[in-house]
Amino acid sequence: MKEFDYFRPSSLDECLKLLDQMRGRARILAGGTDLLVRLKHDMIREDNIVDIGRLDELHGVHVDGGDVHIAPLTTHNEIVESGLCDEVPVLKKACAQVGSPQIRNRGTIGGNVVNASPAGDTIPALSVHGAHVKLKSIDGERTIPIEELFTGPGRTAMRDNEILVDIVVPTIANGEIGFFKKLGQRNAMAISIVNIAVILSMNRSSKIIERAAVAVGSAAPTVIRCIEVENLMAGSRIDSAERLWEIAMKIRDRVSPISDVRASARYRAEMSANLFYEGMLELGVI
Ligand SMILES: Cc1cc2nc3c(=O)[nH]c(=O)nc-3n(C[C@H](O)[C@H](O)[C@H](O)COP(=O)(O)OP(=O)(O)OC[C@H]3O[C@@H](n4cnc5c(N)ncnc54)[C@H](O)[C@@H]3O)c2cc1C
Repeated sequence: MKEFDYFRPSSLDECLKLLDQMRGRARILAGGTDLLVRLKHDMIREDNIVDIGRLDELHGVHVDGGDVHIAPLTTHNEIVESGLCDEVPVLKKACAQVGSPQIRNRGTIGGNVVNASPAGDTIPALSVHGAHVKLKSIDGERTIPIEELFTGPGRTAMRDNEILVDIVVPTIANGEIGFFKKLGQRNAMAISIVNIAVILSMNRSSKIIERAAVAVGSAAPTVIRCIEVENLMAGSRIDSAERLWEIAMKIRDRVSPISDVRASARYRAEMSANLFYEGMLELGVI
């Protein structure tokens, strides 16, 4: 394993100064479930590790107005157990399905997001919830929609002196329903082969869908929104299983996955449609 210098700032200000001094030469350490694996396999080029574990201001959940604010060091299990996160149920479902109990206890939502893996389970859920991320540096802060954070597999639009400090998730509106589903390999700690998150605003009696948000992961270089499918469903009622399957096929056609050791591209595309179909039936859309 490559040698590196280790820093453990005790305040966010100190952390921002360090990141600024070491522009591009520092890597942030949160729960370490991803970073330590990469360090072990010499996949990290930076010479400095900045451990943010002591920064209490980057930990915890609070509600302000209509938004749930989730600080980046909050672990998957803390989100699952937080009553405040009942208002962001699709995210909660995604966090409950990350890895193993050990990974959920140690791994953070910030690490999952900044990792920018196309298979990251929280990302499609955050996307359909309409989440924004707040990035901070010594120069100031900016808040951007979650989708704008990702520029490719493992790549983000973050500047080299920035840190993720907040994830802002609007609470689900009255009458909105949704699901998160993933297909994983049981013997590989369940990293997604494909995953999907959906939120619908549906009139329960007429079953007319007023608004829909659909995001698919592990099926393109970054998590993608299926805008055509969202528009197709908005303002209409899905009146038969055949119609639902037709819509599911549009998801299959929208995704552009790769083949790798875990699954073929074709299988991923077919399964994205199947997960959508199954989840929509469970929501009772027909
Ligand atoms: C066995 C195993 C199973 C897993 N299963 C899943 C799974 O099912 N689903 C899934 O989505 N993931 C899975 N993962 C991946 C990983 O555990 C998660 O993505 C986890 O949430 C990462 O969080 P962390 O705190 O450990 O991140 P770290 O490893 O500490 O960091 C990950 C990356 O994010 C950066 N980073 C962290 N916090 C910040 C911040 N606040 N600002 C800027 N940069 C930051 C780090 O510099 C690093 O590049 C698995 C990993 C392992 C080893």
